[in-house]
Amino acid sequence: MRAVQTLMLGSLATNCYLIYLDEKHAAAVDIGAEARKVLDFLEQKGLTLTKILLTHGHYDHIGAVAEVQEKTGAEVYIHEADAPMLQDTHLNLADWIEPWADFRPVTEYYTVREGDVIQAGETAFTVLHTPGHTKGSVCYLCEDILLAGDTLFRLSRGRTDFPGGSDREMLESFRRLKALEGDYRVCPGHNETTSLDFERKNNPVMRGLL
Ligand SMILES: [Zn+2]
Ligand SMILES: [Zn+2]
Repeated sequence: MRAVQTLMLGSLATNCYLIYLDEKHAAAVDIGAEARKVLDFLEQKGLTLTKILLTHGHYDHIGAVAEVQEKTGAEVYIHEADAPMLQDTHLNLADWIEPWADFRPVTEYYTVREGDVIQAGETAFTVLHTPGHTKGSVCYLCEDILLAGDTLFRLSRGRTDFPGGSDREMLESFRRLKALEGDYRVCPGHNETTSLDFERKNNPVMRGLL
């Protein structure tokens, strides 16, 4: 089973996942507002970070991207609909989450869309566009891992009351995730990991869907 390291970062305890690509390389999914913890971990393990995949553009998931990108040279990916959040502290909610923070905008990045495959060495990440929490929220599928961002949480779902949020789109995204074939390890943007089968059976939102 592929090794994944979770780091909880920032004032909202946002999960940053470091996915080992091989013994020496890793990809990150989301980087909350604490660059030091990520850089220290990479250094301790002798890992080179090659990709930063963002599940959406909220500050608690992207706050340290500019610094980590500068120190590692990793390529940054985000859905096109959330890309403007990489430069705007109003759009990315930094003004609300950590108004005291000195946010550094991200200016170099690639945009992704539904169905794109990001190749990181031998490892492929497939983009599922799952709006609802934000317009450009995505999940990434990597082998048996579903990186769910703030869409699917253990026994819960992401908020839809921020700008760009939509209950209807969230339900549609849940329907898609429920209909995926087989089981996945679910790595959400907050709280503990779970599995898709467990959520199909126990998550009240998912249970209510056909
Ligand atoms: Zn969010
Ligand atoms: Zn979040």
